[in-house]
Formats: sequence, structure tokens, C-alpha cells
Amino acid sequence: MTESHPTLHLRSGREYTIRRGHPWVFSGAFRELPQDIPPGAVADVVSSSGEWIARGHVNVRNSLAFRVLTLDPDETIDTPFYARRIARALALRALLPASVNAYRLVNAEADYLPGLIVDRYDRWLSVQFHTAGADRDRPHILAALEQVVRPDGILARDDIKARAREGLALGGASLAAGTVPETLTIIEHDVHYLVDPWHGQKTGFFLDQRDKRALIGDAALHAHSLLNTFSYSGGFALAALARNPALHTVNVDSSDAALDLARRNYALNSHDPAAHEFTASDVNRFLQQCAHEGRAFDVVIVDPPAFAKNLSMKDRALRGYETLNAHAARTVAPNGLLLTCSCSGGVNAADFENAVQLGVSRATRSAQLLATFGPSIDHPTLPGFAEDRYLKALLLRLS
Ligand code: SAH
Repeated sequence: MTESHPTLHLRSGREYTIRRGHPWVFSGAFRELPQDIPPGAVADVVSSSGEWIARGHVNVRNSLAFRVLTLDPDETIDTPFYARRIARALALRALLPASVNAYRLVNAEADYLPGLIVDRYDRWLSVQFHTAGADRDRPHILAALEQVVRPDGILARDDIKARAREGLALGGASLAAGTVPETLTIIEHDVHYLVDPWHGQKTGFFLDQRDKRALIGDAALHAHSLLNTFSYSGGFALAALARNPALHTVNVDSSDAALDLARRNYALNSHDPAAHEFTASDVNRFLQQCAHEGRAFDVVIVDPPAFAKNLSMKDRALRGYETLNAHAARTVAPNGLLLTCSCSGGVNAADFENAVQLGVSRATRSAQLLATFGPSIDHPTLPGFAEDRYLKALLLRLS
């Protein structure tokens, strides 16, 4: 050990989950947590018998008090540490096809870098520091990113709500290195998308839906109409149009800025926006109107924002999914497809599937489940780390 850190003592038997690869320890697992350790400091964890277990970030102000950085007592947490981890994350993304130049480069705990999100948009990076530990190590992390990735610019997005839970200030987007344009263009398979890295939702694009967008490209090959609800910048519709340019698409989102970006994306990919529909509306209201008019679509996408970020909101979220999917099911043509998604961390896959099924039967339809989706190459997770499985998607064929 080259540096000394505060030592945290676990209660008897509490080292088991860390040893099995779980990256978190809650405050109750410790004999005591000295309140004077600065939030985000590096600390060592030892078992009740004094055996060294792990080194990681501690934040005594959060009940999720400790996040594992390394299980190697000789590993120092410095710029070379971050450079090694980032290089390993980059090597995983080399498995993506060459036709993709935007992806999540670092997915926090599942890339052994707790609290750190790095999204790559072509030659630029967007970074989020979710925890006091990641925030405290910001200089190391930025230096390591420059060294390993050599980007043209790095943007820090400090406008994520998760920071508040860790006692961190909420800010905006700020330049951390080089330059980052107001708008940039990325390529995903055969589609070009405009991304606003400074103000766009998340870090500018919903990278976590890439595999689902690719699937919809295949599934809509013989369809005539596609309804893309919660459309944001048009992603699912554009992925389908790339394979089936004759498709008629309808995008619905409550955000005018999102629909404006969607129209520009259509033009960028040589689809005439005037030949398609872009409707600013609440999705439930729009779906009810469609059902009222007897309007149906061959493919319907439902990709709402999170209804329940945590367990306390679960029951309300499940009722919300049931109602939304009931409305959506009524707008699917006979033998049409419904891709329905949930990005609620507080709702697990089984509960989501059940809520969707209740919604489908409320619409007096029956469904076949064709595919389910979980993690993807650039959004890895860890076996046994159920807390990380926020995104769930089901592809259904309705009677
Ligand atoms: N499917 C998109 C991402 C959707 S993100 C993609 O692949 O890129 C969720 C979107 O839902 C956001 O653009 C947000 O503006 C929109 N939204 C949130 N609540 C809404 C509501 N009640 N009605 C319509 N749109 C809503």
C-alpha cells in the first residue's frame, strides 16, 4: 500500500457481497462511519476480523455509503488507475460495428468506475459525475480521458439530479477540455442524428436504445405505418425509415424542441418532414384520440421517461404503465407490433411485464412476447447487481 486511507470496519459477515462482486455497501453494514471523512474520499474497508477487503469511495452523508473501486490492496487511485479502467472500457466498445460512432464509453459501476458516466459522440466526450467520489477525482478522470481517448473536447454535464443525493451542487454544462460544438452529427448504423451535447436530454441522445432501434429497423420492414410516442429526436422512426423509406411515420412528444430536432433529423437523412407527422401532445391524450378515431398503426413504440426512479414510487408507476400500455394497445393494428419500454429503476422486469400484460388485456387484445431486452455492449451491468437494471423493453405482437 503506497498511501494511507481511512479504514472502515464492516460488521461480521458483511464482506460477503463485495467478494461476490457487488459494488455497493450501505451504511448499516459498517460498525461505525467516522463523520469527519470528507464526502468522496478514498477509504479502505476491512472485515470484522481486520482483513483487508476493498478500496473505494466513501460518502457518509449517503446511506449508500461505499462504492468499490478495487479489490487489489496494491492499487493506488490516481490518474494511471483511471487510465487503465478507461482503456479497458474502450476495448469493450471496440466490439461495436464501425457504423456506430456514438456510444456509452464508461457505464459507471459496471465498468468498475462507480458514479462515472462517459458518453462518446464521435470526437467529443460528455461526462457526468454522479457521486461525491467521482466528483472529487474529476482532475484524475479528465486527465485519464485525455490520455486514453484524445478527444477534440470534453463537456462536463453537472445538471443531473442524482448529484443532489450525494450533496453535490447542480450546475449546467461546462467545457472541461478542448472545444465542443453546439450541434454535432453522429452516425448509428445507416442513420445520421443531430445531437445538442450542451442542452440535449441526458447527454444529448438516448444511446441506451441503439439495439432496440436496430431491431425496429428490421421489424418495420414490411409495415406501412409507425407511431413513435415519446419520440424525442425521432430515433425509432428514423431507424425504421432507413430500411423502409415508404413508411408513414408519426412522432409524438410534449417537447417542441425535441420535435424540431426530429424534423431536422428527417431532412438530414433525406426524408421529407412534410410527408410525416410531428405532433406536440401528451402521449396518453394522443393515444386516446387515436382510439376514438379508430386510427391504428402497424408498429407502435412506447418509450416514456422514468415513472419511478426508486422503489417508493413503484405502485403508482405500475398503474401508469398499465394505463399507458392499454391506450397504446388500442392503436396497434391487428397483428401489429408494440415495442414498450420502461427506464424506471424502481420497477423490475417481472413487474413491468405484468403491468404491460394487464394493459393489453384491458384493451381486449392478446399478445405474443417476441423479444425482451436488457443490457447491451456499451451499457454493461454486473451479474447480481439488480439495482442497475433500469432499462427494460418488450417487443409484442398483438392479436
Ligand atoms: N425514444 C427516444 C427517447 C425518449 S425520451 C429515443 O430513442 O431517442 C422521453 C421523451 O418523452 C422526451 O423527449 C420527453 O420530452 C417526452 N415526454 C415526457 N413526458 C411526456 C408526455 N406526457 N407526453 C409526451 N411526451 C412526453
